[in-house]
Amino acid sequence: MANENLYLGCHVSMSGPDYYLGSVKEALSYEANTFMFYTGAPQNTIRLPLERLKIAEGRALIKENGLDESKIVVHAPYIINIANQLNVDNYEMGKRHLLNEIQRTYAFGPKILVLHPGSHVSTGVENGIDSIVKALNEVLDQDGTDVKIALETMAGKGSEMGTSFEQFKEIISKLNKPERVGICLDTCHINDNDFDVSDMDSILDEFDKVLGLDKLLVVHVNDTKNPRGAHKDRHENIGYGYLGFETLNKVVHHPRLQGIPMILETPYYEGNPPYKKEIEMFRKQSFKDWR
Ligand code: FE
Ligand code: FE
Ligand code: ZN
Repeated sequence: MANENLYLGCHVSMSGPDYYLGSVKEALSYEANTFMFYTGAPQNTIRLPLERLKIAEGRALIKENGLDESKIVVHAPYIINIANQLNVDNYEMGKRHLLNEIQRTYAFGPKILVLHPGSHVSTGVENGIDSIVKALNEVLDQDGTDVKIALETMAGKGSEMGTSFEQFKEIISKLNKPERVGICLDTCHINDNDFDVSDMDSILDEFDKVLGLDKLLVVHVNDTKNPRGAHKDRHENIGYGYLGFETLNKVVHHPRLQGIPMILETPYYEGNPPYKKEIEMFRKQSFKDWR
């Protein structure tokens, strides 16, 4: 059954010479109708000036192909950690780069920025919550945009924050602008954090009860190399991991998740991107062994 409200895409790169124009072309080559990108390298905060990134050309191609810019997603660099204040310089740097990243997202046109909530390190969950709240309040007071931050559900490695809906609720309830923050649900991460992804109805019931389903801004659709509860965070190609195709296909086509951008972050296989095949499998709702 064709689903008119399915926004399905993947992570795409952004590199020279075409930068954003190249990102849009890459997404279109996979027959994606949305995508996610980093405005520079994921691991660092070195960022090229916006004038060099062919943003207008990319946006023109988005429009030409009828994509909905509001479903396109930006991911903030991993190294931002606003969940502890052990090192004041790191905390200040995190806020500064987050502010910059929100403003860059706005300049590209999308309205959603995915952010890892960070690690409290040795300071405890309550301190983690307070640090995140303080940073988000400061940043969202200054940025002057309407971009929303989607805090990502994490696998629960070490002292990672973002491991329960209640924790997100506590964060959001303490914000001055709660309407600016929502959640990115990552199927690999929640599996590794001991959620049963094969029972998405119960997960969404709990999400709705604790946070309200309107807080769900993005879904990251990944299979996982590890069993439920492993707290690892290693993504696998769709249908080749512990979740399997049928479970993930139900997520993608779940009636309560339609309209929410679904983004694949599965690994390259033998040097090649898997996304065209994976998107096609979900559109056809049937698994094809391609590896
Ligand atoms: Fe992420
Ligand atoms: Fe993710
Ligand atoms: Zn991950």
